[in-house]
Order: sequence, then C-alpha cells, then structure tokens
Amino acid sequence: MALRLYNTLGRQLQDFIPIHAGKAGFYGCGPTVYNFAHIGNLRAYVFLDILDRTLTYLGYDITHVMNITDIGHLSGDADEGEDKMVKTAKDRGQSVLEIAQFYTDAFFGDIDRLNIRRPDVVCKATEHVPDMIELIKRIEANGHTYTAGGNLYFDVSTFPSYGDLAGLNLDDLKAGARIDIDRNKRNPFDFVLWFTKSKFENQALVWDSPWGRGYPGWHIECSAMSMKYLGEQFDIHTGGIDHIPIHHTNEIAQSEGATGKKWVNYWLHNEFLVIAKDKESADGGAGKMSKSSGNFLTLQSLVDKGYDALDYRFFLLGAHYRSQVAFSWAAMDGAKNARKALVQRVAKVLARSAERVQTGAGLPTKKPSARAHAYLDKFTAALENDLATPQALSALQTAVKDAELAPEEVVSLVQRMDSVLALDLLKNARQLLADETAAAVTDGSDPEAKEIQALIEERTAAKKAKNYARADEIRTELNGRGIILEDTPQGTVWKRA
Ligand code: AMP
Ligand code: ZN
Repeated sequence: MALRLYNTLGRQLQDFIPIHAGKAGFYGCGPTVYNFAHIGNLRAYVFLDILDRTLTYLGYDITHVMNITDIGHLSGDADEGEDKMVKTAKDRGQSVLEIAQFYTDAFFGDIDRLNIRRPDVVCKATEHVPDMIELIKRIEANGHTYTAGGNLYFDVSTFPSYGDLAGLNLDDLKAGARIDIDRNKRNPFDFVLWFTKSKFENQALVWDSPWGRGYPGWHIECSAMSMKYLGEQFDIHTGGIDHIPIHHTNEIAQSEGATGKKWVNYWLHNEFLVIAKDKESADGGAGKMSKSSGNFLTLQSLVDKGYDALDYRFFLLGAHYRSQVAFSWAAMDGAKNARKALVQRVAKVLARSAERVQTGAGLPTKKPSARAHAYLDKFTAALENDLATPQALSALQTAVKDAELAPEEVVSLVQRMDSVLALDLLKNARQLLADETAAAVTDGSDPEAKEIQALIEERTAAKKAKNYARADEIRTELNGRGIILEDTPQGTVWKRA
C-alpha cells in the first residue's frame, strides 16, 4: 500500500505523490510565542511529529519547516484586536523580543519532553521581514492589492478560488458577513498584508517598506518563509482546523496570487483537543482552552500532577488526529497506566531476550519471522492509512504480548515501531530493569542481591581494567547460579533465569 493522506483541499483521502520522488517537503504553522503552549496546541505538534516520523519511516528524505510567530498575530485571526506579542510585552514591562525568546525556549522545552523531533528549519517572522516585503511586492504587481487608511490589503475579489480550502462561497459569505471593525476593507474577507502606523501607533517593531514604515500582517509570514525554504511549490502544509477558514485560506490567496501557480498539494489539519465537561477536569476553568484568555493547561501542569510528558503523548496517539479528543484526568490516568503496562511488557521481553542469549537458548535473529513481519506490515499499513496511530499502537501492544514471537524479534519490532511512536520504550524498559535491580539490593528482599551486585561491580571494574578473563569468569559464575546479566547504557542489570 502507498501512503494515503486526507487532504482538506478536496476533502478526500488521496495517495501521497511527492513533487520530487523520494522527498517530502512540509511546513507546519508554528506557535505564536506570547504565552506558554497549551496542551491543545501541543496536539498540533505531536500530530506534525507523527507525520515527520512516518515519512522518515517510509523512507522519504524530508525537509520539515516551522515558523515562530513573533510579530503581527492579532488577537483575532481576521485583523481585529491587539497584537498578541505587544500586549504581553506591555503587560509584563518587557520587550517583545524578550517575551518571544522566553516563550520560544519554553515551547522547545515542551517539544523536547514530548519527544517531538525538532524541525529541520525553524524560522522566526522577525528575521524574515525582507522576504515578506519581496513577496508582497509580487502580489501587488499582480494586481491583488489596494491601500486604505495607510494599510495594504489583499483584495479577495481578484482571486476567484478564494475560500476553496474551507469550502467557502464568497457570495454566501458576503451575505452573512461578520461585523468587521476595520472600515478600510472593501470586502470583509480582505486582509492586511502590511500595516503602517495607522493601526497601532506604538508598535514596538517596525520596518521600512514601499508602503510606509510598519509591520507585516500575520498570514504573509507563512507564505514567505515556507517558499523560502521549500520552494514555490511544496508537498504538505499542516495546522489545526481553526486555521482552515482564515489563516490558511489567506496564505493560499497570497502565495498563489504572487506566483500564479498552485502552491501546496496536500493540506492536513488536526482536530481540536477539548476539555471534557466533567467537574474534575474543568480544573483550569470549563470550556474551550484558549491561550489569549489564559484559561488552559500546560504540559508542565500535567507534570506537576505526577504525569510524565510521554503519558500525554501516549494519550494523543490513542486517537486519530482528525478526531476531536476530550481531555480528562481519568483519560490521562488511563494513558499513564497503559503506557506503564507497555513498558513493563517490554522490560519482560528484554529480560527474556538477555536470558536466551546468555543461556545459549537463542541468538538474535537477523531475519524476522513471517509472524513478526505480519505485525510490522499491520503497523505500516495503519500509518499509511492517513497516519492511523491508534491502530499502529495496537499492533505494537499486541506484538509485545505474543508469546509465539522470539523475544529478540519483539525487541527489534519495538525498536522499529518506536521510531515513529517515540515513546522511548526500550530506554524506559531498561531503566525499569535497572531500578528493579537496585531496589532488590537496597530493600533486602533478595538476600543474595548484595553479593550479586558486588560481583557485577567487580566485573565492571575488571572490564574497565581490560581484565576480560576475570569479567567473563564472573559472568559465567553468575550464569551458573541462574543469574542473567544485561549490559545497558544505564549499566549492568540482572535477573534470575
Ligand atoms: P497558535 O500558537 O495559537 O498559533 O497555535 C498553534 C497551533 O495549535 C495551531 O496549529 C493551532 O491550529 C493549534 N491549536 C490551537 N488550539 C488547539 C486545540 N485546542 N487543539 C488542537 N490544536 C490546537
Ligand atoms: Zn501559518
């Protein structure tokens, strides 16, 4: 089977055919760094990470680009309200760039804890204003703009396919138009490409431009930066579903208005994470999570409650990215327990595998059996079916329980599958074995444990001193007593056979 992705543009599952065979270029709208990311935002990046890792797993040579919005994003996506960055800077008495740096660092801290691979290119809006100005010039030269009240607007009436992504009909939209406070707009769906001081007198960061000293509208940054790093046409663009009707719709109009050709082939959008309406989970205040209202849960607040960041990743993988997910503490407990059980299973398999190697009962197999292959096929097919992580996860969970698979095969399956799921399963399972070993020594539950531990330490010292004969002697002695050793990056752990 080939990779199939649900394309918002056209609303159907389509085979993924990259522009350049074997390569995949994609752009995900990054965070607006005026506050911590909430766990809903982080869902968008876990989804993006699954796309990134799946494409890599399937053998594509990927280029993953993400922006950091540090200017121009107003509290309303359609040019209304205050600039989010400027407002926070004012409230805190800090500069916009200080605020941006603080929350960018916090964002990457969260990303790292969730095992989200860092994008190949991370680009800040403030560092790409000249690229935006050049792009706006092309849009203007193609007759898509007008100036009013000192701002430069995109005239949506000049772009006939405006709204195709969202399935919007411009005439219907006009009829039921939202009340728009910007009276400069000819059409309520026109949007700002360049603001001058006419909108905000005290904007902290301004640049010279052909339209006056000012700053770019929010949407243009994504068009300019994605094209800079991925070319004028690229494969995939992602974001949350809230971006479909305004931000991505406007990005398409600008980009295609500038180049005159199709811009992005596949548009992928993740559904929202919502707060379940039970009393307990209304913790941060009931209703929709929102960065601007400050009513939200951060990853740190989950960690403070005793969850591991990977419990949250596991929780998200249990749902398809196109399904809405309701967050609740009960669901988090479920995820935490299920992840723990999975790590315990993997630890058991690791111990069995070490035992087989040392007792000579089995050697790591190079070629997987047909049975192991079937699990891998199931896993791959799930991901190829529009990144179906619940089914992929379930293939892994079933494989680790399958007593008919050789333990070495299970270890190698876990390794392959975890390259996409990124739950650190082998690392955590080894840690669990090491912790169990240490606990047996300290709690005195195993009278022989202290002596075994002393021998293991002697063996480690012997290996360090290159006295391999003594090291082997100790291993043989312990094996003879039914003690199985496994050397892990965290040190040597042991189990009874
Ligand atoms: P922002 O930092 O506000 O620009 O949002 C970052 C990303 O999070 C965007 O792709 C949004 O579409 C996405 N997003 C915002 N809220 C949620 C939510 N509750 N669930 C899932 N994704 C969200
Ligand atoms: Zn964007």
